[in-house]
Amino acid sequence: MPKPERSSFRATVARWQREWMAVSDAALRINLDHLSKASWLMVLLNLGHVAYFGLWFEAVHPLRSAWASNVAQAHALMVLPMLGVWAVAHQSRKQERPSQLARILPELTACVVLAWAIHLTWLDQAVSSAISAYVNACAAMAILLLLRPPYAALLYSVAWAWMAWGLGSIVSEPDTLANARVNAASASLLSFWVSVLLWRRFVQTELLQRALADTNRRLERNQVQLETLATTDALTGLLNRRALWDRARVELARAQRENTPLSLLVLDLDHFKQVNDRWGHLAGDAVLRHVTALMQGAVRRTDVVGRLGGEEFVVLLPQEGTESGTRLAEKLRHLIADNPMAWDNAELINTAVGTPNLPIRVSIGGVSLLPGEKGSMEELLDMADKALYRAKASGRNKVVWATQTDTLLRP
Ligand code: GH3
Ligand code: MG
Ligand code: MG
Repeated sequence: MPKPERSSFRATVARWQREWMAVSDAALRINLDHLSKASWLMVLLNLGHVAYFGLWFEAVHPLRSAWASNVAQAHALMVLPMLGVWAVAHQSRKQERPSQLARILPELTACVVLAWAIHLTWLDQAVSSAISAYVNACAAMAILLLLRPPYAALLYSVAWAWMAWGLGSIVSEPDTLANARVNAASASLLSFWVSVLLWRRFVQTELLQRALADTNRRLERNQVQLETLATTDALTGLLNRRALWDRARVELARAQRENTPLSLLVLDLDHFKQVNDRWGHLAGDAVLRHVTALMQGAVRRTDVVGRLGGEEFVVLLPQEGTESGTRLAEKLRHLIADNPMAWDNAELINTAVGTPNLPIRVSIGGVSLLPGEKGSMEELLDMADKALYRAKASGRNKVVWATQTDTLLRP
């Protein structure tokens, strides 16, 4: 009995790794899409800060004035990188395979934005003990980007360590320092948690959607197979009786609507039982396939060939009247008679019989529905059957066309 898989930490990590491999491309597409939109917002925010702190802000204290100018500078410094992010992300959305730079753009952007936010937070310590720049950046990156949990863990822990270290040389008041460090740790941890949650939700949804698409594809394939099975004769691959009548009714309706002729042939192999009796059922089956191939090679693409059952076939000839219908029926009869089937049976190869040619003959009953005449498919088949009966009764290997006496259709 196979051992149940142990749900250990290592197994979970291995599974997450596999899942990451499967969804990394989709995650990259989403990240690049988010970045191409968010980078514009970031540029607007930066320009807003530059305008406010660089042009309008009037500080009474020189210390505050220096702080405002530093903040304006820091924001100005971010405009170009953000435009760069937009350019790469926007360009790669049109490409089939994103460039190497685009592939690392989400992680690179997260790094740059956090480093910049840490720098801004340090600057802010000149006028306040708040660390909102850092908190905002952590939250924005967690919500905006789908980051792999190991990378997110590294990003937020290094960011916090760097932030805490920098604060140590800027903030002299121990309580304020401790408070800022703890707040930064909470922000980092919460952002990491949100990042992991969003990542897991994305992976699960993506994999579920793929499984669903896969199942849908399989269902569609099965449906096509079922439809084929339901409409096709298994031995010859021709339309089976049901599908044949469905198609025949469509052709009949079309002929009557467009006022064009329609002919119907019923073909029945002569003395087919003898083929089975003499050469066996397999030979009989092969003859049925052989005749099918001959007929399919001789009719037009718009003609319809089907197997009525047993050794009886139907050929529907849209737009053909009595004359051309009879011509095609004769052509089929000759074709079948002139092309006996070579019966390659292993049991016969080394005997005196060798590879025998099985002669095949066919009798055909035909009928036409001419423009202006009315009739159902059942009536047409009945007339063709009567004509076929006459072909059999008068010696077989013949084409007989339905006459006035067979019909109740003529106006
Ligand atoms: P006729 O000239 O009067 O039509 O004589 P026939 O022997 O062709 O007609 P009959 O109705 O007596 O026999 C038809 C035979 O066709 C009997 C049946 O075993 C055989 N048959 C029907 N379906 C199949 C099939 O799928 N495979 C094979 N090998 N034989 C089949
Ligand atoms: Mg028959
Ligand atoms: Mg027959």
